[in-house]
Amino acid sequence: MIELGKGSTIGIFGGGQLGRMLVQAAQKLGFKTHIFDPFDNTSACRIADNQTIAPFEDETAVELFANACDVLTYEFENIPISAIEHASQFTNVYPDKKALQTSHDRLVEKTFLRDKADTPVVDFAAIETMNNLSKFVQEFGAPAILKTRRFGYDGKGQIKVNSPRDVKAGFARLGGTDLIAESFVPFVREFSIIAARGIDGDITCYPLTENVHKDHRLHTSIAPADDKQNISSEAHAITHRILNALNYVGVMGIEFFELAGGRLIVNEIAPRVHNSGHWTQDAGCTDQFEQHIRAISGMKLGDTTPKHAVKMTNLIGDEILQADVLSGKPNTYVHDYDKRDIKPGRKMGHVNEVEGG
Ligand code: AMP
Repeated sequence: MIELGKGSTIGIFGGGQLGRMLVQAAQKLGFKTHIFDPFDNTSACRIADNQTIAPFEDETAVELFANACDVLTYEFENIPISAIEHASQFTNVYPDKKALQTSHDRLVEKTFLRDKADTPVVDFAAIETMNNLSKFVQEFGAPAILKTRRFGYDGKGQIKVNSPRDVKAGFARLGGTDLIAESFVPFVREFSIIAARGIDGDITCYPLTENVHKDHRLHTSIAPADDKQNISSEAHAITHRILNALNYVGVMGIEFFELAGGRLIVNEIAPRVHNSGHWTQDAGCTDQFEQHIRAISGMKLGDTTPKHAVKMTNLIGDEILQADVLSGKPNTYVHDYDKRDIKPGRKMGHVNEVEGG
């Protein structure tokens, strides 16, 4: 594909904060933007050039949207595959259907990573019956983590099965079907790699980002993270294998567990810009949102070497009310998503604290 000309339109499925930051990056590069979301007045649509408000299942709306845009992308992975399939008949959608299908379902994702991308993953099994779960706990031991295969995020749709006695209650609590069991990973640290692959197959990776979760939700990301166990090159090699196996185009977030001794396990992949990559906005390199737009529009990928270390902290619920105080501090940059209602647990913004920047 040839590089999109300035003034071309980038269409984005989803109008949340990731969509908003993609719009900002696209505008900086001289593109027009169009948001498709079932709801009006979203964080992204307020700054986009155009918007379509319709359900993702509305094929006519999807067709009109696709025809109005030069390339399409999405900001979250729970968009129905049918919408991507339909839109792809009229224009290019990146990342493509395969990436979305793979990450939609934890069982498909883990099987793909292990069998097609030579990636280390936890022991896992599909769970359809209580007997399946009992057998899994017998074979791999407790604790195990039982998860719904689809629509789980931020720790929702998962429980820890601490002993064989918990099997019955755990199975019942998650609804009993379309589940996956995983061994519990005694990790010493969680980290992620944000990477991009261009249409020409070129790959760039940002350095390791160390992630700390609070209440099952990402709280802080620190980059570049310490690499005491010398895992960086292995993590980057795994990342390359995953992106190439999917023939991926765009930015991807890959979440890892690091074990004592330096063994790595991939927990999950997100076929989109990722919360743990927000630090790139103030690190003095190409940020992940611009990198994604560059990748999907056929531009050369930008520089991913940070000039500064950054600590990113999410602002959840009424923490956003501290924005003015925080942004008055030196080397501190607040990104407010301009969401209309403050709700407990809702991601409202984030703050990047830059070391020496
Ligand atoms: P997930 O929804 O799979 O991203 O899981 C959310 C969080 O739960 C992860 O970031 C980990 O902190 C924890 N977690 C998930 N799976 C496992 C596992 N197999 N072993 C240990 N902790 C896990």
